[in-house]
Amino acid sequence: MPGVNGIELCRRIRAKQRDRYQYILLLSGKDEKQDVVDGLEAGADDYLTKPFDVSELRARLRAGNRVLTLQNELIQAREALRFQATHDDLTSLWSHSATLLLLNGELERGLRSRTPTGVLMIDLDHFKSVNDTFGHLTGDAVLKECGRRINQAVRKYDLVGRYGGEEFLAVLSNCTVEDLEKIGERARHAISEKPISTGTAEVSLTVSIGGVTALSGPSDLELLSAADAALYEAKRSGRNRVVIGSCEASQTQPIKATERSTLLTAPRE
Ligand code: GH3
Ligand code: MG
Ligand code: MG
Repeated sequence: MPGVNGIELCRRIRAKQRDRYQYILLLSGKDEKQDVVDGLEAGADDYLTKPFDVSELRARLRAGNRVLTLQNELIQAREALRFQATHDDLTSLWSHSATLLLLNGELERGLRSRTPTGVLMIDLDHFKSVNDTFGHLTGDAVLKECGRRINQAVRKYDLVGRYGGEEFLAVLSNCTVEDLEKIGERARHAISEKPISTGTAEVSLTVSIGGVTALSGPSDLELLSAADAALYEAKRSGRNRVVIGSCEASQTQPIKATERSTLLTAPRE
């Protein structure tokens, strides 16, 4: 082994801290007890001295493989748990608490890079009547599809969470008022453009959306309460519309509403 010996190589591999564990079997002509100890201390998982027996090498490699398989299973289980802890069961979107954490991260990033952060608060219109008409299971399927459509309507670096029962929150980085309007309209249209087919029912519905974007480093609460006020205005003024509010020193004033025809048109039996 020219240039670097096995022990040093082990050390360098371990120092690199790769994502995936590197299983190291050291094969060496040095067969003193201390050599084996040094090899294992340097990071090797196993040590075999030369001349070696091929069947022993194979058996040791199989043992190493068992360790790696176990490790992969643990990593997968950890990732599944991590996903479960941060995502909503029904829609697979970000959970409420994860959405707030991510929003705070975006606000900090926006402040550093002097770019505006936007949010869209999206609430399904008259969703209670979907449950009343078609049942809760169909309601669940409709919610899931709405989440999917909204997630597709935002830009790929934006994020969407399930904020509450039938309420979604989109967090939009580097987002001007024009972007906010455009993405809000896209989300509104994504829901209303065609009925949601659940297999047992065809459900037409609409959403109301309140949006705000701010540059001046508002708190998450200021931004959310401004979006909530804009959403309230969207509901109050007829639903199926996007209202863009403003977020200045904790004050909200709806400044723009895009008028649209409204209301749920769910077919009834
Ligand atoms: P609005 O246009 O004013 O928002 O009317 P709405 O009926 O959508 O609002 P309301 O707050 O009166 O009702 C919300 C409904 O959403 C009632 C609740 O049962 C339903 N909902 C909330 N979470 C879930 C869920 O996980 N699954 C189903 N199927 N329904 C849900
Ligand atoms: Mg609603
Ligand atoms: Mg609601």
